[in-house]
Amino acid sequence: MDMIRPSMTIDGAATTAATLIDVVNPATEAVIGQAPDGTAEQLDEAVAAARAAFPGWRDTPYAERQAALGRIAAVILANADELQQILTAEQGKPLGDALGEIQAAAWWIGEVAKNELPVTISDVMPGQRSTTRHVPLGVVGAIVPWNFPVLLAIWKIGPALLTGNTLVLKPSPFTPLATLRLAELLRGVLPPGVLNVITGGDALGPWMTGHAGIDKISFTGSTATGRRVMASAAANLKRLTLELGGNDAAIVLDDVDVDAIAELLFWAAFKNSGQVCVAAKRIYVDAKVYAPLSAALARVAGEVAMGNGADAGVALGPVQNRAQFERVKALVADSRAQGHRFLSGGGDWEGKGFFVPATIVDNPPEQSRVVQEEAFGPVVPLLRFDDLDDAIARANASEFGLAGSVWSSDPDRAAAVAARLETGTVWINSAQNLTPYAAFAGQKQSGLGVENGLDGLLEFTSPQTIHTARAA
Ligand code: NAD
Repeated sequence: MDMIRPSMTIDGAATTAATLIDVVNPATEAVIGQAPDGTAEQLDEAVAAARAAFPGWRDTPYAERQAALGRIAAVILANADELQQILTAEQGKPLGDALGEIQAAAWWIGEVAKNELPVTISDVMPGQRSTTRHVPLGVVGAIVPWNFPVLLAIWKIGPALLTGNTLVLKPSPFTPLATLRLAELLRGVLPPGVLNVITGGDALGPWMTGHAGIDKISFTGSTATGRRVMASAAANLKRLTLELGGNDAAIVLDDVDVDAIAELLFWAAFKNSGQVCVAAKRIYVDAKVYAPLSAALARVAGEVAMGNGADAGVALGPVQNRAQFERVKALVADSRAQGHRFLSGGGDWEGKGFFVPATIVDNPPEQSRVVQEEAFGPVVPLLRFDDLDDAIARANASEFGLAGSVWSSDPDRAAAVAARLETGTVWINSAQNLTPYAAFAGQKQSGLGVENGLDGLLEFTSPQTIHTARAA
């Protein structure tokens, strides 16, 4: 593949920068592309373009904005092959998963476009009719992480544009290329200034969150960064949606069919090499099924091919960047130093690339780092429990409250456990299946606000109530 050097899109036009950021393929450590290192002045230009485009876009009929989302979906699908190649090269995920992400992005924005905004009318108050509608906020700053760069950008682009806002979007400097390329492809599809995509180094995110011309920040990333975003956004009381980290528990009850769930549970933890906000990051297993399930998970781990995502047959790619690689390796090294046993993995990987073999830690102490910290990599502890109440208490003893899962052959039992988890999302006998139709919200320090579903759409709006005097 030739070097990939897409430009930024500001006011519908190509813009580059005096300096460029190298983008590394995590499977080979080779530089495969470069992204502009956008300046504060270029951010000002992008915000000014978004602000200038706002009145026209806000006043564009809703049906036309719906149609624009449909055109975005069509452009993504028409260019799926190119975007898939770029995504695997910069992110590391296997080609099939990259295509899955691209197709999901196209489908998602198409489904978002089908929403209608509710209008609420109340005649309860004598002498007046109150009509509440939902109006856009203005300029949205969208900040995206490196695990699902295209899909998570679309989660913001779709609802922000549908509701009449304009956007300045910043991908992660680790995975900027597919997003920049997508914005290039969309230049002819949207009016200039409606969607601006800007890239840069560590300073760019804070410039955005502190920018007086941005009305809302929609942020996906770590809890540590989320706290900084919230503090910085206070300056002009920006609206905020924060989708942050998690340490999701899977709870496996004693009545499961081990063979039926082993593979599903493995991928609940290891899809995208564990770099999923809603990955199962602690697996609590009833002592009655601990032995057969640990054997089954170890067998699945042994059968999975790890390697360069561009190679056929590879199911597990590398960790996306060196800093995260070092973090994940340090967690595994800590487990080794503590004398934990491993059902799979537990060693380092020799050679080029940020590879960590799928690592399952065999019942480490609850207070160990590998249990308490979000690994965000292919490392998961399997934890035995004798008492279900105790397992639920351990699952809930976390500053995070993103998601979780319950595994059981008895739907009523599973639902009763699900209701006791202090998380915004719970799956029963499945995992990671988020949809455009249902609210996704982190409890506790996993976030603020909602993405997806009607609740998520309304986060890009403000209610406006008009009271009209009428005969009582
Ligand atoms: P990160 O917080 O380091 O970075 C996320 C984005 O924020 C990047 O674009 C980054 O450049 C930018 N950024 C960094 N510092 C900033 C600052 N001070 N102000 C503004 N922006 C700043 O996160 P990451 O390492 O890219 O992603 C991994 C984390 O994201 C994990 O904790 C994971 O659980 C979480 N995540 C959450 C969800 C969710 O929906 N809840 C989805 C995916 C990832």
